[in-house]
Amino acid sequence: MSDTHVTPSTSRSAELYDLAASELAGGVGSGTRSHRSGYLPVPVFVRSGQGAHITDEDGNDFIDYVMGQGPLILGHRPPAVIDAVTETLRERGSLFSLAHDLEGQAAAAVTERMPSIDLLRFGNSGTECVQYAIRFARSFTGREKILRFEGHYHGWSDAIHWSGHPGPAEWGPADAPTPAPGSNGMPPAVASTLIIGTWNDTAALERIFAEHGSEIAAVITEPILGNCGAIMPAPGYLERMRELATDAGALLIFDEVLTGFRIARGGAQEMFGITPDLTVLAKALGAGVPVAALGGRRDIMEMVNDGRTMHGGTYNSSPLVCAAVIAAAGVTGAPGFYDDLDARGRRLANGLVEAATAAGVEASWSGTGGLFQLWFAPEPPRDYRTAIGIVGQSPFPVLYAGLRERGVLIQPPQEGLFLTSGAHTDADIDRTLEAAAAAMPAVAEAIERGAVGPTGGVR
Ligand code: PMP
Repeated sequence: MSDTHVTPSTSRSAELYDLAASELAGGVGSGTRSHRSGYLPVPVFVRSGQGAHITDEDGNDFIDYVMGQGPLILGHRPPAVIDAVTETLRERGSLFSLAHDLEGQAAAAVTERMPSIDLLRFGNSGTECVQYAIRFARSFTGREKILRFEGHYHGWSDAIHWSGHPGPAEWGPADAPTPAPGSNGMPPAVASTLIIGTWNDTAALERIFAEHGSEIAAVITEPILGNCGAIMPAPGYLERMRELATDAGALLIFDEVLTGFRIARGGAQEMFGITPDLTVLAKALGAGVPVAALGGRRDIMEMVNDGRTMHGGTYNSSPLVCAAVIAAAGVTGAPGFYDDLDARGRRLANGLVEAATAAGVEASWSGTGGLFQLWFAPEPPRDYRTAIGIVGQSPFPVLYAGLRERGVLIQPPQEGLFLTSGAHTDADIDRTLEAAAAAMPAVAEAIERGAVGPTGGVR
């Protein structure tokens, strides 16, 4: 394990960052990779990845828990997927924008694991397929309003990127949050098509349906709140959501972009035993190639047939991505794959809490072995606002920096995630826990000094 510390003025990564910034807006390809997201002192510039590891441009080796933000369920360069994709590219081509046999085979790899999905269509990103889910729900019900929850992320489209990460100045009352745009440049009029709910609050959900039930086309939820540190649904909460939606004639959309193909064979819907009307998949579905899907009830998905509920896309279900879906499903479909992944992830999560406790720091974790978060708080949060309360007092950025120095890369924010893969070995987990034990005393000191909060005094 390298213990080299990347320094901004002399490192190759810093040089590349400066070079990139002269051509590439902001120097990185997405805001989540930037120093604004906590990748300090400079964004990580990756040379290559292999299994659970990445090597940066300064020659540092990291055990990677970013895992491409979720897609890399088999780690970097999984042989089965790389072989299938390269052979398909070489022997058949990258794109036809015409029908081919791999589309049906890839679709079967999904429907076979998710009984709620009778039919599906592929797309290219989670954002795109969420946008389609919303369109399909509105078309099917003839209603306009979408109920979404504070702190959830469903992609960046104007239609839904509201109240994903609002601040106290804009979030409004907890019992009726105000729609807060996630970006400048979004039409304010969209706010009137949305109802914002507080997640994990059954009474609040019942009130919303009592007041607006007949106007709601769909309620959309992350079944585990992955975009706010893997907060678990309270017992009975998703069941009640299912009932209320059914009674109101509204659709239930599960955004399983993070959880699908990651936390269990059949995703969160299998884990919690809930049948949504529509499901959005992406990320782990392609194990690293850009593919997403919208699937669900036959009567809803069949609306594409006459073209009046439009679904299209030049790049949809190319042979390249279908080959990846089929190959990845073959590997993750092996008996015990998800049990092993879950067990290793839980050992890591429990070990991190122990490491914190040993240093005198209160900690807990939430989520599952495949996606979880360590919280510097006695209990994990139950919704976005309680999470933000913890973030304000959390030394998490100090842990991020301490792990990065010791060759372990995690997402920097307290409300981020640890993402594991089938490529993480027991030895990787042991080394991570050693690094965590060495990093925790600085975390304890940061709390004493009051160096806490979203940047934790790390600059
Ligand atoms: N939904 C969820 C739950 C997500 O986590 C994400 C991405 N982090 C999206 C939708 C958007 O997916 P994409 O980045 O592929 O557009």
